[in-house]
Amino acid sequence: MRRLRFPFAIALVAVIVVGVIYWLRTRPHEVPTPFVTQGRLQVYALDVGQGDSELIISPEGKSVLIDAGPPQAGDEVVSALKKRDVKSLDLVVATHPHSDHIGGMRAVIENVEVKNFLDSGQVYASNEYERLLRVIKEKKIKFIEAKKGMKFDLGSGVSLETLNPQGDGQWITKVRAGGSVENANSVVMRLTYGNFSMLFTGDAETETEQLMIRSGEPLRAQVLKVGHHGSRYATSAKFLEAVAPEVAVISSGADNRYGHPAQVTLDRLQKAGVKIYRTDLNGEIAIVSDGNKFEVHAARQPVHVALRSGSAGVLACLLPAVALLSMVGGRGRLRSRGRRL
Ligand SMILES: [Zn+2]
Repeated sequence: MRRLRFPFAIALVAVIVVGVIYWLRTRPHEVPTPFVTQGRLQVYALDVGQGDSELIISPEGKSVLIDAGPPQAGDEVVSALKKRDVKSLDLVVATHPHSDHIGGMRAVIENVEVKNFLDSGQVYASNEYERLLRVIKEKKIKFIEAKKGMKFDLGSGVSLETLNPQGDGQWITKVRAGGSVENANSVVMRLTYGNFSMLFTGDAETETEQLMIRSGEPLRAQVLKVGHHGSRYATSAKFLEAVAPEVAVISSGADNRYGHPAQVTLDRLQKAGVKIYRTDLNGEIAIVSDGNKFEVHAARQPVHVALRSGSAGVLACLLPAVALLSMVGGRGRLRSRGRRL
């Protein structure tokens, strides 16, 4: 028996060592490539799971947070702000009052100074939203109801313009069966800096897209924060034609119960030749621009890319496993031989 244990142990160690090497070589890269932020416009799609949160930092340091993810992402959003030394936010935007967008907001307001709060202005009964409104009042944060045409100057020629809601009580009241009026009346904003522009659509639905196209608003943007986590009911072909994005950013949680993003939306984006980044696959996504060109830096590469490049590693891992199995099989044979003796 002693003779048998030794090769078995060697094979086991070999499997573990090769497995660890394989994992080290193919695991998603957690370290983002360093990039220049100084004097540039930075936009971060934060990794908040199933929800939405984007941070904008202008070249002169003005900062805007659009949504703050679900309640459990509050700490993540706060640490993302601290990591970039954001001690006060010039503007916080709640695109609409759903929990996956405002859930993390109280944690933000309690940890960071907030100067202005832009809300869709919809009436919505939820304890979470009412508590948030109370905290905003207590902290004496300026409360602004969003309306088409409102512009926020972030300095150095960076501007954030409101494209939706239309204002003056013109709400979208009719949505598809199963659709959400709150989503359809999301605050939509367009960020511009020189030749660069990015569109933030909250959970806007096709109805919102149609309304914005009809009213002739400036929709063109190199980067599109895809509406409603990539749901099938947003990002219509017509809207994509109007925006003509080069890059799409989808914020969704891994294996979420809604099936976001929908394959049909991914197909529409692919057909339009748009490069897709997803927080569920790429983690945090950074977009930096000098007002002329822009770069996208993802915290990690999608796992399927890593696996493809490491297919040799799978083989290397399988070979010792096969050896181990044959060794175990051999052990049985040897033992029976031993009995015979
Ligand atoms: Zn949402």
